[in-house]
Amino acid sequence: MAKINENYLKLKAGYLFPEIGRRVRAFTEANPAAKVIRLGIGDVTRPLAPTVLKAFHKAVDDLGTIDHFAGYGPEQGYDWLINEVIEKSYKPLGVELKTEEMFISDGSKCDCANILDIFAMDNVVAIGDPVYPVYNDTNVMIGRTGEADEKGYYKGIVYMPCTEENGFIPALPTTKVDIIYLCFPNNPTGTVATKAELKKWVDYAIANDAVIFFDAAYEAFITDSEIPHSIYQIEGAKKCAIEFRSFSKTAGFTGVRCGLVVVPEEVMGTTSTGEKYSFNKLWLRRTTTKFNGASYPVQRAAAAVYSDEGWRETKAIVDYYMENARIIREGLASAGLTLYGGLNAPYIWLKTPNNMSSWDFFDKLLTEANVVGTPGSGFGPSGEGFFRLSAFGHRENVEEAVERIRKNLK
Ligand SMILES: *Cc1c(COP(=O)(O)O)cnc(C)c1O
Repeated sequence: MAKINENYLKLKAGYLFPEIGRRVRAFTEANPAAKVIRLGIGDVTRPLAPTVLKAFHKAVDDLGTIDHFAGYGPEQGYDWLINEVIEKSYKPLGVELKTEEMFISDGSKCDCANILDIFAMDNVVAIGDPVYPVYNDTNVMIGRTGEADEKGYYKGIVYMPCTEENGFIPALPTTKVDIIYLCFPNNPTGTVATKAELKKWVDYAIANDAVIFFDAAYEAFITDSEIPHSIYQIEGAKKCAIEFRSFSKTAGFTGVRCGLVVVPEEVMGTTSTGEKYSFNKLWLRRTTTKFNGASYPVQRAAAAVYSDEGWRETKAIVDYYMENARIIREGLASAGLTLYGGLNAPYIWLKTPNNMSSWDFFDKLLTEANVVGTPGSGFGPSGEGFFRLSAFGHRENVEEAVERIRKNLK
């Protein structure tokens, strides 16, 4: 019989969202009249911007004509999209990138997972806690870890606690690590990193020959002009950082699927015999072998995000979510809750009242206010005692949810 990849058996069976679903179902079955508002899952709710939709439609129509039909495109993405992103999104930050340094994909989750292909197994990986679970679980799947302990920490991974005490920005690792995952603005805590903060990480990476995986999925939600949108705004980062971006939250592409990775040519690793090798070359090789490109209409739609009109409309949608974030933040802060995030990120990370556990607070809000959020402990042990609310809901739901939580806490 064919043998299975037993690394998968080390995973704790997709515990968080299925468990939320189970508890919500049990509640709604017992209380069919309750109008439950979901501010839990990190999915967008606004439709695509009109200009983006128009470009998407046009590209689909192109496929129906002999003259404009498009078959296989370049595996790493069309130059017209890559150059548009470089011009409109990186150049204004003062970041120069070459076309060959950017790779278009069908989303950032896959990229965060697939990037591990081009790194040796004996690299030591550092991951935040709490964290986007993909970073952790993909390292387990690929075989870089041992079993999890009773807290949920896997043997072999260096966890970096992000706590109220450190402002949810982890301290530099005290042991040598080779790969560091950073995500700013952060999911789930909504924290952002200043340039000075990121410089600390870039300096560490250069001094230790480490590579930073910088997940910038939420960069479009930054409102403070002092906060960097890209790690390449930090001097030296092109030598040590790979950046991930996604159209999912920026432009409502969670169902459309498009992301990108930047692998600067200067980011180097070594072979076992000590020769330097460019990760860009490896990633190109991997991409051209294992991927056949994001779909043509999707890339056309993505390019339209950066047209003047498309960007104005897209920005208005981001602003809509950030107004939701303000309503949640101000409404709950004035009700006496301690909360973080929501200023440059679509997530509010609140401290549960009276030291309740994350899951107890979840149950309380579900059964008493009929509002669903995400228990912080589901993102890692250091998330215990916290709770994530998403600003991606419909305005009237967000307003009603805030009112209900306020009443409930009185
Ligand atoms: C939503 C999200 C992504 C984007 O995933 P896609 O596959 O592009 O939809 C990446 N990183 C984090 C932390 C996210 O929350």
